[in-house]
Amino acid sequence: AAKRNGRNRFEHFTKEMGEMAQRRRIVENDLREAITTGQLRLYYQPITNNQHCEIVGYEALMRWHHPEKGVIMPLDFIPIAEETGLIHNLGAYALYEACREAASWPGEQMVAVNLSPLQFKSSALIAVVEGALKESGLAPHRLEVEITESVLLDNTMKNIDVLRDLKALGVHIALDDFGTGYSSLSYLRSFPFDKIKIDKSFINDMQDSREALAIIRAITGMSRSLDIQITAEGVESIEQFQRLKDEGCTLFQGYYFGRPQPSENRLKTF
Ligand code: C2E
Ligand code: MG
Ligand code: MG
Ligand code: MG
Repeated sequence: AAKRNGRNRFEHFTKEMGEMAQRRRIVENDLREAITTGQLRLYYQPITNNQHCEIVGYEALMRWHHPEKGVIMPLDFIPIAEETGLIHNLGAYALYEACREAASWPGEQMVAVNLSPLQFKSSALIAVVEGALKESGLAPHRLEVEITESVLLDNTMKNIDVLRDLKALGVHIALDDFGTGYSSLSYLRSFPFDKIKIDKSFINDMQDSREALAIIRAITGMSRSLDIQITAEGVESIEQFQRLKDEGCTLFQGYYFGRPQPSENRLKTF
């Protein structure tokens, strides 16, 4: 009986695996079509400075306008894009589109684009970034790429080379979600980052957790001495904003200042 039970469980398991794989395939096919039919859109969330809360630029965040399912958020399709290799098409689209739109914004406002670790490891990355800049005519210093710590974990020399090549193009580099991964403060000395974005989980916990506040202090203190700009992400209230400003954050992003919006509706002043 035990054996039969085991086999039933196994069959049940394989059936579920099959259904999951099929759901994935449906999403994969839909996503392939989404790229070619323009269902992927970039929304822009303002980033403000600590002087007069002027908007210095925007982070481009992808949304999938699915014809039946409505708006799908990145966490529900980026992982599938990464598993299927579609992230390279999707990522190139984000770079070209963000540069094209930012080129029409006034003044020196910058645009920040998220890079998947797979894009970062691709030998095509530099050519894609260069192509996006060239086609849009956007000044390179107005483009910022955001990478997460996870890309820095392995083959260090190669990573440094990619970062140097990006810098050589004139683009800025931000370290995203700082504090969540295997944060090592030594990264910050060996890599040429322009900016560190403190993960929103620390901002969220700051008022109740001494540990979260201590980490924010450690990051701002260190970046002051290394002369790196600090962005606080996920700022939702004026209290958080004032506290973070006092702690030495220089840039701010969060619902308090504005939500991600299509380029034509984006917040122009705060
Ligand atoms: P991220 O790069 O850390 O982006 C910040 C996320 O925090 C965004 O979520 C944004 O909408 C959200 N956010 C901003 N302010 C607040 C706030 O005050 N409160 C709260 N609760 N959330 C806030 P979103 O748009 O869902 O994107 C999630 C993640 O998906 C991004 O995290 C990024 O890692 C990834 N992603 C988005 N667009 C792209 C893309 O074009 N390419 C790649 N590779 N990844 C992307
Ligand atoms: Mg980001
Ligand atoms: Mg982030
Ligand atoms: Mg984040």
